[in-house]
Amino acid sequence: MPAFWSATALLPGGWAQDVRFTVVDGRIASVDTDTAAAPGDELHRITLPGLANVHSHAFQRGMAGLAEHRGGTSDDNFWSWREVMYRFLDRLAPDDMEAIAAMAYAEMLETGYTHVGEFHYLHNDADGRPYRDPAEMAARIAAAARTTGIGLTLLPVFYAHSNFGGQAPNHSQRRFIHDLDSFSRMLEACRPLLADGDRLGIAPHSLRAVTPDELAALIDMPPQGPIHIHAAEQQQEVGDCLAWSGQRPVEWLLDHAAPDARWCLIHATHLSDAETDALAASGAVAGLCPITEANLGDGIFPASRFLAAGGRIGTGTDSNILIDPAQELRALEYSQRLAHQARNVLASEAHPSVARRLFADTLAGGAQAMAIEPGLAVGHAADFVTLDAAHPALHGRTGDQLLDGWIFAARNSCIDTVWKRGKQLVAGGRHKDGAQVTARYLKVVDRIMAR
Ligand SMILES: [Zn+2]
Repeated sequence: MPAFWSATALLPGGWAQDVRFTVVDGRIASVDTDTAAAPGDELHRITLPGLANVHSHAFQRGMAGLAEHRGGTSDDNFWSWREVMYRFLDRLAPDDMEAIAAMAYAEMLETGYTHVGEFHYLHNDADGRPYRDPAEMAARIAAAARTTGIGLTLLPVFYAHSNFGGQAPNHSQRRFIHDLDSFSRMLEACRPLLADGDRLGIAPHSLRAVTPDELAALIDMPPQGPIHIHAAEQQQEVGDCLAWSGQRPVEWLLDHAAPDARWCLIHATHLSDAETDALAASGAVAGLCPITEANLGDGIFPASRFLAAGGRIGTGTDSNILIDPAQELRALEYSQRLAHQARNVLASEAHPSVARRLFADTLAGGAQAMAIEPGLAVGHAADFVTLDAAHPALHGRTGDQLLDGWIFAARNSCIDTVWKRGKQLVAGGRHKDGAQVTARYLKVVDRIMAR
């Protein structure tokens, strides 16, 4: 690509003016500030680093909005939503997976995510048997990432049980199930699927779905990439874990699995004060999904205490009911304002701007959880996101006010262009292949809804 010049850009050290990046082989080769643009440079006004989406179940984009009506009882909750989700995924073939994932990934790019952690558990055919290629569905995820250009940390899920204590899986879970041997084979088959810059980790689904012995074996399994696990999303899960072990889920993990910087605990919603402080000290990332957690009625993560204790956070779109990192960060701060009856709860001394604090923390924590490098620095991937300086929510704003305007005050996305490894994927807020990706997705939705 030609050099990339921006009137203002958010660098690891803060906002800089008149910034010129050169890019070689998709990586930033030089960063110069207070420098005029040269003829032929790509010219932009406001440039941010791309964000990582730490937690996605791509196929759930296809059922977004289908579980927003009462199912005959007045106590709809996470578990009744899960039944709708199970019925939806029963109908998915590999082609459907690829088309829905491509739609979700194009939307992620259009809203400012340049990398996604796919927590991938739909492994088996509809009858519960493995596909001839055990990594068939993972290959469709990787193909969707390649089609759209988003970076991928593939997190194949180990799922073997229906509840704590190694209970047998139920019929609805047949498409997820592996034993350690078959999982290890599938993991090997995933390696050749990765593109340059992609990563491979593992995801023990939750303490409901793995036994302590299985968890220990998974932690030691190559390639020793990131480890992601759902934890403490629901009160019922906390109660079941207490009944099984005498400990709460995060308390159990801290005591038995010693999570560290390799780990990302997804949700971690229901924490005691002691768990909050110990998880913050562990170096693990809390993978927060504020829109999904609100949609599913999960509860409110103790973000203010966790961040004050030095905890690391990333954000994820999880159910993909709505894909937009600005709205995730807004929902996170608003959940705290409602809980604490206060304003600017997640600002810090270093960053009095809430948006800047949350952007900086999720950039760093997201990169850690994905095993990629954060921010626009020499040697890092040239993942640029530019904002539309003509957007009314950004007019007259500078520095951190731009982030506050984008995250709190913009009705429509402020994203103008998105670049992955120096390649332009989004222009004018639309993915370059958005029309084809959407057309294929709509056909798949028609087919699924007719089944
Ligand atoms: Zn999830």
